[in-house]
Parts: sequence; structure tokens; C-alpha cells
Amino acid sequence: MSEALANLLNETRQFPPPAELAAHANVTVDAYAEASADRLAFWAKQADRLAWSKKWDEVLDWSNPPFAKWFVGGQLNVAYNCLDRHVEAGRGDKVAIHWEGEPGDTRTITYADLHELTCRAANALTELGVTAGDRVAIYLPMIPEAAVAMLACARIGAAHSVVFGGFSADSLSNRIQDASAKVVITADGGYRRGKPSALKPTVDEAVASCPSVEHVLVVRRTGEDVAWSAKDLWWHETVETASAEHTAQPFDAEHPLFILYTSGTTARPKGILHTTGGYLTQTSYTTHAVFDLKPETDVYWCTADIGWVTGHSYIVYGPLSNGATQVMYEGTPDTPNKGRFWEIVDRYGVSILYTAPTLIRTMMKWGDDIPAGFDLSSLRLLGSVGEPINPEAWMWYREHIGRGELPVVDTWWQTETGAIMISPLPGVTAAKPGSAMTPLPGIVADVVDDQGQSVPNGGGGYLVLREPWPSMLRTIWGDDNRFLETYWSRFEGMYFAGDGAKKDDDGHIWLLGRVDDVMLVSGHNISTTEVESALVSHPSVAEAAVVGATDPTTGQAIVAFAIPRGTTDIAGEAGKQLIADLRNHVSKTLGPIAKPRQIMLVAELPKTRSGKIMRRLLRDVAENRSLGDVTTLQDSSVMELISSGMSGAK
Ligand code: ATP
Ligand code: MG
Repeated sequence: MSEALANLLNETRQFPPPAELAAHANVTVDAYAEASADRLAFWAKQADRLAWSKKWDEVLDWSNPPFAKWFVGGQLNVAYNCLDRHVEAGRGDKVAIHWEGEPGDTRTITYADLHELTCRAANALTELGVTAGDRVAIYLPMIPEAAVAMLACARIGAAHSVVFGGFSADSLSNRIQDASAKVVITADGGYRRGKPSALKPTVDEAVASCPSVEHVLVVRRTGEDVAWSAKDLWWHETVETASAEHTAQPFDAEHPLFILYTSGTTARPKGILHTTGGYLTQTSYTTHAVFDLKPETDVYWCTADIGWVTGHSYIVYGPLSNGATQVMYEGTPDTPNKGRFWEIVDRYGVSILYTAPTLIRTMMKWGDDIPAGFDLSSLRLLGSVGEPINPEAWMWYREHIGRGELPVVDTWWQTETGAIMISPLPGVTAAKPGSAMTPLPGIVADVVDDQGQSVPNGGGGYLVLREPWPSMLRTIWGDDNRFLETYWSRFEGMYFAGDGAKKDDDGHIWLLGRVDDVMLVSGHNISTTEVESALVSHPSVAEAAVVGATDPTTGQAIVAFAIPRGTTDIAGEAGKQLIADLRNHVSKTLGPIAKPRQIMLVAELPKTRSGKIMRRLLRDVAENRSLGDVTTLQDSSVMELISSGMSGAK
């Protein structure tokens, strides 16, 4: 950015925590003071929430930055912390997972069950020759075996590399090769949109080009026919017959726990390496602090897929290390109907719901009457992650899902950060719709200008992290140079997140989208997020994506793509009128500088498989270029529709 981001959106609404929640919150305002008095002592205290086999000698070794070592000399076993210690404390009968398959089949898995399955899987993997330090690729649908597979790897010290079940054979093969995985754990298939969706053929194709793979372990989920090779073993014949006795060995705090590839929204995916002690400390603490999780009474549900970091940190490691009871759902939100999510909340009495802006906006598009048809009174806290949440989407979430009274925690973090970094604390923070608010206790974040100087309140620039944090990535797998270049070379001594942000007049942080997406219009840096939020604040718009397209007079001009809400009429003149209204609405909300040159009404937007809008493809369309790489798109037909609509538009 050649100058600071223009600061256009002025949002003044603010919602203090419900009194009842604040009175009994797990974490109070004192945590901030405690952490700023002695950050390392604060993190040591959070590490003490876990069971260590050997206590650490030093909290942080930062003698060779940016290669951090946390809890140096300490030893623990992650699976022991997520399972055995709850069972040993007499909580074996407590439900760990209420699982619901897409066709409606269900499984209730207690901590004792999950422990037993994990021990069997650990023994089976050991018999297959997997030892500490090896890598195992996991390519599974959202079934309990996905969590079991991850925990079994952690238990024996093998690093897992979970690959989202929607990825192609090529993407899977690249990831298996990059990590030289020895074993692949997969299934015959899973259920998506009302029918079986095969996985095994993709694995067969991928493994053909992966000489490192010795065995493929296959869970039977759909029962469909699969091809079989000498490397293949059925899970039910291998894992379920293995011994249920397994003693977890402790591993060094810096022992690799997993590799996970970023979602590839902006660049070639990066294999992010996370380690053991610091990662578990921060995921466990943030689950306790940000979701105010009370394991005795709450029913928690994170709707992410296990193939993304949110599934790792906030389905597996964070909730299970806290002994939570949670819901896990296999399928899509509109199967068999658009009320599926709310039916699940109603049936299991979900009290904490953690989902993504893309889903909230989809629900807005589908209409308010759908959630209104269910009893959502069990909910007490709502969370959001994955993209900036537009203030109107935040308000809709609070009004229509949260009865107009529940706190919404907008949590900013990345695959690289491992755990939540910037978020309201639900019992402390008076949250503003659209703002991630404040770095959590123990986290030192800032917004800086081009020179790396902290911007004053009211200013915009780049989001950075000034101090190391326990769950930070340790490197990019096999590529220390890319690690240094991507995150640590932009600003001296600071982690560069790649996101634009602003500080409002109170110093609260607002995420403004990827630095790569920022638009330069007549010399002003304008954030895509703010223009999108202005569009979404119009009652006829559910979702919007905005890009900068080359323009002979203004350098770049704003081109917007908007999805109309519910029953909005967009045929003929009505559509033209709506477009004119929207351009004026943006101009009135943000100022004439932000008025889009062009707005196109569309039915869908291009999204990655993790649900993030892919603006770079829309930029290709807006600038009449042929499309770039579309392989990480959820549905590539969306782009054909948009491209043909664009060439038809004036
Ligand atoms: P790649 O780095 O390969 O392009 P990615 O950045 O999409 O992939 P993730 O680690 O899944 O992969 O996403 C992290 C990014 O998601 C953040 O950098 C930020 O841009 C966005 N994000 C996540 N949560 C929030 C939030 N609460 N508010 C704003 N942005 C968010
Ligand atoms: Mg990223």
C-alpha cells in the first residue's frame, strides 16, 4: 500500500455482554492485566491447565528468531490430554461427540469410547510400522474416525497431514508427496448433498504417484464398491481388532504434531507445521476463554470441516482437551432442507455455535423464516471465523440466531497462528458488529504503516504480531526460506499476517481483507471488506464481493458482485433500479470515492472449498482476462455463469 488504508466505514453500534454470562465468565478483565504484567508467566499458567509428564525448564526460547521454542524441555502427550485424563478423572461416560451423518444416522461417543478407539488405532498404526516422527495423511469425511485418526497419530508421535475430502487426486498427491506420508487413512466415501460421494478412487489415483505410501487404511462408510490393491486395509479389520490397551508416551513440547496446508486463497498452499506443547496450550486456553466453555453443561458445535485449521483447533484439540461435549455433523447445511443446521441445534440443545460468515450470509439469503421455525433457545454464545464478517451479517446472526441478546465473538486467526488471536472475550468485551476488537490476553498485535510504525487510532494499514505466541507455526514444512520470506521479511522483527486492518477511535481492530485485495482508487487505498459491508447493509443484498479493475481515469475502479436476498425481484427494470440504488447506497454510506463503477447481480460467488470468496478470479472477469487457477474453487461452474453474465453486461 502506498499510503494508509482509507477509513470509510463508521459503525457505532456496540453490545455489552449479557449480565448473567459476565457474572460467571471463565475469563474476566483481570486476564488482560495479568498477561501484560508478565506475558510468559501468563502463558505458563495456561500451560498448567494441561497434564505434563515433565515440566518445562523455560517458557520461551526466542534466541534464534523467528524459530521459536515454547515450554523448552517439557514433555506431554496430546491424546492423553484430550482423552485419558478425562477418563481417569471419572468422566469416561460423558459424551464427547454427538455425531450426525448426513442421511440422518447418529452415533453417540463417550470419552471412554473415544479413548478406546484411539488406543486401537494407535496400536494398529504402530503395527503398520508408523513410528514417532513419521507422517500420516488423513483424507476422510466428517466422521468420528477423522478425530480418532488424528488423535491416534498424536498419541504415537506421528505428524498428521489432514487433506480436505473435497480435494482432487492431484492436490492430495502433492500434499502426500510434500510430507512423504507413509500411511493414508481414508474411507470408501462420505455423504454429500443427499448421496454417497466416493473418496477411495481419488486416493487410488493419488497414491499411484506417491512411492512413500506403504499402506492405505480404509474406513467403510458408504458401503459402495471400491477397487482394492495390495496396500489397502480395512479399518474395521485392522483398527477395530487391534488391542484397546495402549500407554501414551510423552513427547517433547516441540515435537511435530501436524502439518496443514493453508486454503490457498491468495497463493500456492503452504504446509504449516505445528508442534505439541504450545499449540495445545493456546487452543485449549482459547476454547475456555473465547467460547466460555463449561464442559459440565455446554453442548458445543463448530461447523467447520476437519480438513481446515478450525476443525483441528476447535473440533479436535481445543474442545477435547477441555473435556467438552460437542456435535459433529457430516454433511451440507441444505440437505435434506435448508433448516438442517437449526434442526441440529434444536435436537442436541447446542449452546455454543461456531461457524463462518459465508454460512451466515447464505442463511440470510435463504430467509429469516427458516431459523424462526426452530427452537434455538439453548444457544448462549455465537462465534464467527474465516473472513471479515460484515456488520449487517453480524447483526442478522445476533438477531435471528441469537434472539437479539447473545454475544457474537468474531475471531481472527489463521492456519499459521494455530489458535484464536484477536477476539472479544464474551464476558468482558462490549463487541462492535464487524470488529474482532482486541488481541487476546498474552497476544501482542498491532496495525502498522508501510514503514512498520504503529498507526494511531483512526488509522489503517497492515496487521502484524509483535511478539511470539505459543501456537505459532514453527516453519513451512521443508521450506524455512519461504517461512522467512512470507511472514518475517516485510517488517523487521514482526510477523506479517497479510491482512489489512484499521484501528478505530477506541483502538479496536477491524479486519479489512487481504492486503493483495486492497483497491487503489484515485490515489486512495480502499478496502474490499468495507465496500462489501456497505452493500450487505442494503436490505436487498445478502452477500457481496468487490474487486478493483484497471480504469483509465481512476487507476482502479470498483467492480462489485452482489447476491440479492430472499425474494428480491431482479428481472429487467427492477434489476437495473436495484443496481442504481446500490451504487447510491454505497456512495452515501462510505462516500463518493467508494461508489462502484459497475455492479453485477449474481446468484453465487466463487468460493474456496473453505468458504472464502476468491476475489482474484472476479478480478480476472472484471478485467476481461482469462481465468487463473480455479482448482481450489468449490464449484467451478459459478465462474462460467459470472463470466457470461459479465460479457453480456454493458
Ligand atoms: P492462503 O494463505 O493459502 O491464501 P488462507 O489465508 O485463506 O490461505 P487460512 O489460514 O484458512 O488460509 O485463512 C486465514 C485468513 O482468513 C486470515 O488471514 C484472514 O484473511 C481470514 N480470516 C479468518 N478469520 C477472520 C476474521 N475473523 N476476520 C477477518 N478475516 C479473517
Ligand atoms: Mg493466508
